Amino acid sequence: MFKRVTGTRDILPGETELWQNIENISRSIFACHNYREIRTPLLEDEPLFNRSLGETAEIVQKQMFLIQREHDLFALRPEGTASIVRAYIENNIDKQQGFVKFYYMGPMFRAERPQKGRLRQFHHIGCEAIGSYGPGIDAEVIALAHTLLKAYGITGYCIALNSLGCAADKQAFTASLREKLKDRLSVLCEDCQDRFERNILRVLDCKNEACQNVIKELHIAGSQRCSDCESHFTAVRAGLDSLHIPYEVAPNLVRGLDYYNRTVFEFKHSGLGPQQDALGAGGRYDGLVKQLDGPDTGAIGFAFGFERLLLAAGEQAPAQQADLVYLITLGDSAKTAGVKVLADIRSAGIRADTDYEGKSLKAAMRTANDLQARFVAILGDDELKDGVIALKDMSNGSQEKILMTGLVGRINELGRLRKMNDAL
Ligand code: AMP
Repeated sequence: MFKRVTGTRDILPGETELWQNIENISRSIFACHNYREIRTPLLEDEPLFNRSLGETAEIVQKQMFLIQREHDLFALRPEGTASIVRAYIENNIDKQQGFVKFYYMGPMFRAERPQKGRLRQFHHIGCEAIGSYGPGIDAEVIALAHTLLKAYGITGYCIALNSLGCAADKQAFTASLREKLKDRLSVLCEDCQDRFERNILRVLDCKNEACQNVIKELHIAGSQRCSDCESHFTAVRAGLDSLHIPYEVAPNLVRGLDYYNRTVFEFKHSGLGPQQDALGAGGRYDGLVKQLDGPDTGAIGFAFGFERLLLAAGEQAPAQQADLVYLITLGDSAKTAGVKVLADIRSAGIRADTDYEGKSLKAAMRTANDLQARFVAILGDDELKDGVIALKDMSNGSQEKILMTGLVGRINELGRLRKMNDAL
């Protein structure tokens, strides 16, 4: 028997409705903030990620799913930002609009060790605002993420915020960190010893207790920022303060990718466990568009992990489905006429289904029950001759014979009545 690939999941009906709920909420909130959806391919040229995330990034080093086809090396996208910037440049969007806002949803692929909240195919929901260096958009993007979480019904998270400064600040910070850590190298975990060489900022993110202790002793503060970056960070914080959005300044928050500069942030949720407590994260990437041969422009974005949003949202009532009408036909003429009856009900926007197996009335009624149909419409050859149909309301067992032409109207009426009763 075939099994799904480790670290991937089947999302089945029952759960898909919860996904759709988050998707729908997100679409409407993104739209209110004037973001438009972008969909990029799952497959990209591998060098795109190598060049943008940085060859020392953990994702590029260890986690890319690569596909070699003759002379080409492709990668299943591990994140969305690089692809979106590629699409922005390739489609000349910068020449049509100075400033654009995109949102996206879809699968990402990383060859990680699978565990709760950590998959090999997972899903991002995120956005990118490209074309501005202004701190106003930083505050708006963080506020937007906060608004989304509230709308999903997620509470109990905190926002960690930092500024990495500009490229020169990052370089100075890296050098001073190297100086401070070089004598403590033996205390660090194996991964961090490797990070010391390749991607030293990432040591600050390490969850290992020994590494955390060393980091605490370093007393890192954001003192390495130049005055321009400091004022930018002050303005971002003022923007968040004016919106009454709570956050904690976290000088250790660095994010592991080369392209980040200035503002970085993470939404942490304690209910997810210590190893993967991030619901989502993001930051500014002012150098990336130029680095991928586009114009010199500022940009910022974030992504939530869909699966983690669902974990944090916890047990939710299964999404309510619309009332189902189940049509049972008895006899050949009724069966033929039933095709049109079913189509008419559906085209009125009502969920409807029928039996395709020629079951007996009793067996078909059992199926209607299994499907939790609200109404059963029964059409026999005799009824058809008289232009009538039987309609049974399964919520109270009442049954009536009505004109076939009045069927949709009557279902709507009863459906509405039920809703009024529910409201009472
Ligand atoms: P990142 O690009 O790593 O900052 O990812 C943004 C968000 O995606 C994280 O905060 C997680 O919520 C989620 N995420 C990242 N990697 C995984 C993974 N392997 N499995 C599930 N969710 C993930």
